[in-house]
Amino acid sequence: MFKLKNYINGELLEPASKHYIDNYDPSRGVVYSLIPDSDERDAEQAIAAAKEAFKTWSITPKDTRSAYLLKIAAIIEEQLHDLAVAESLDNGKPLHLAKTVDIPRAAANFHFYGTGILHYAAHAHSMEDTAINYTLRQPVGVAGCISPWNLPLYLFSWKIAPALAAGCTVVAKPSEITPMTAYLLSEICIKAGLPKGVLNIVHGYGHKVGNTIVSHKDVPLISFTGGTKTGATIASIAAPMFKKLSLELGGKNPNIIFADCDYDKMLSTTMLSSFANQGQICLCGSRIFVEKSIYGKFKDDFVAKTQKLVVGAPMDDKTKIGAVVSKSHMEKILSYIELAKQEGGTILCGGKQQTVTGEFENGYYLQPTIIEGLSYDCRTNQEEIFGPVVTIMPFEKEEEVMLYANSTEYGLASMVWTQDITKANRVAMNLHTGIVWVNCWLLRDLRTPFGGVKSSGVGREGGFEALDFFTEPKNVCVKLK
Ligand code: NDP
Repeated sequence: MFKLKNYINGELLEPASKHYIDNYDPSRGVVYSLIPDSDERDAEQAIAAAKEAFKTWSITPKDTRSAYLLKIAAIIEEQLHDLAVAESLDNGKPLHLAKTVDIPRAAANFHFYGTGILHYAAHAHSMEDTAINYTLRQPVGVAGCISPWNLPLYLFSWKIAPALAAGCTVVAKPSEITPMTAYLLSEICIKAGLPKGVLNIVHGYGHKVGNTIVSHKDVPLISFTGGTKTGATIASIAAPMFKKLSLELGGKNPNIIFADCDYDKMLSTTMLSSFANQGQICLCGSRIFVEKSIYGKFKDDFVAKTQKLVVGAPMDDKTKIGAVVSKSHMEKILSYIELAKQEGGTILCGGKQQTVTGEFENGYYLQPTIIEGLSYDCRTNQEEIFGPVVTIMPFEKEEEVMLYANSTEYGLASMVWTQDITKANRVAMNLHTGIVWVNCWLLRDLRTPFGGVKSSGVGREGGFEALDFFTEPKNVCVKLK
């Protein structure tokens, strides 16, 4: 069986323990490769390599750093098909999604920061003829980058690219549930000639490898994307060590639909914002609030369209809903559907596991599920489910829907559908989320700040905000007389 390797100091290495973790193909429910079960020895070796490489990489001219990033982007583009197949196999997502979103976006991340660093400028503050202040932005050091399983290479590269562009070196840990494209990225970096130790990728469990990275004295900043609970654990370790922290955490995003929206556009986009990637995108709108006058029509149309979504093998072109990422995650989602029933919800469609015949019969497939009849403040509507499950609820007044929308501990993203520009701006202003999409969803300009408020995170990724995170400002005040 194929064994993945760690990428440390420019080499592909076995884990010190020589132990491996089973890697599952969720579409078939079978083990198809083995992941290094790394521990603190591997993580420490990687951190030492990154620390040594920082001495050179941090003073490497930005044009040179840019050239490496652009080369990595170009190789990802060349290998788009193979990477997409690997992502789909590892994660269960439909191949067309990996081909059109995940892998192109990973290449775009390297391209964006490969060029972005060339335009990154610092400030100067003149005190007329007394003094001049200028601010240096210097790379912080070894960056710890930890990412989740839902958009594996896409989110991994969203951290690594700005860190490397800024002049940090990196020790990164992908999710042990979906490690394959991170491993392929290490091969790409070798092919691109990235100097040794600049990027190190250590595979394994969060409580071993992740914890060593987070708690290590030689890693002064942590960029983490994952669940809110894990984020809290990481913050409790890193904060007393005064590490820089960027935490991109969970969400429970509201999708607010007013009666005056462009109905057809709203409906087709709501299908995506509800069920894309089996609902396993932190930005999916899992709580759908619909103005009462169109609630009945919306309910009928939404259920009818959802029932037509093809659940099937990820590599099949007809598939709209692939496998969810793991058996335990599937069970968690099913337990939330049970909870919804106990809380008085009515399952309008879906609600069950689905068997896909043939070699896929042991895969982790779920029917896309719509639930109604729940109160806005019940657990189903407050906790993150992270699967193909949405609730729908009617509302009459704007103040009422604002109360519902802002009622959770989360504040990542929100969607507003209306043709009334004044209402759209007012609602956007009053939503407690880091991102608001008006009449669209997942439309991304990589220059914009990305992140959430409340329990959805701390800090922002994207654009120059990420370069600010991976650099430390130093003010130099020069007296002129
Ligand atoms: P987890 O929090 O379980 O894991 C995320 C990463 O952290 C994994 O690599 C995991 O390792 C690692 N990890 C776990 N424990 C520790 C620890 N003690 N110290 C250091 N690292 C640790 O999240 P999931 O992988 O389940 O991802 C789903 C979550 O991610 C959802 O809540 C989703 O909303 C959120 N998310 C947020 C996004 C955002 O931008 N705000 C974007 C995408 C997802 P391992 O699991 O391999 O052991």
